[in-house]
Amino acid sequence: MPMMILDNCTNCGICEILCPYSAIYAGGVNWRKIHNRYFMYCDESLVHDDFWSRVHYYIVPDKCTECIGKYPEPICKTACTKDGCVQDADHLETEEHLYAKKQYLETMPGYI
Ligand code: SF4
Ligand code: SF4
Repeated sequence: MPMMILDNCTNCGICEILCPYSAIYAGGVNWRKIHNRYFMYCDESLVHDDFWSRVHYYIVPDKCTECIGKYPEPICKTACTKDGCVQDADHLETEEHLYAKKQYLETMPGYI
């Protein structure tokens, strides 16, 4: 399952710096997906998926691998002093799927 960020996030920004796939964005920062790739997109009128947050950092699920094969546990979870990064129990993903996502992300031009 990918990670998600809770409302107790204090916007310190540490997790964004550490994420190996740039899956974490600051609150209010926009993005969009084109041909299976995510792009930054600054337009307040954009319709966002429900993980997007205006007020605190958020994680784009399709870019989160739970750090599988990179760290013993999600590095955002390890680093967050507020326990703000947690697994999203409503969106389960198998290990096989997470490894496939990792492989896909690492073959993208520019990697992240
Ligand atoms: S989730 Fe935690 S580490 Fe990330 S910005 Fe919020 S408080 Fe900081
Ligand atoms: S678990 Fe890893 S890949 Fe997912 S958002 Fe956190 S740091 Fe990024």
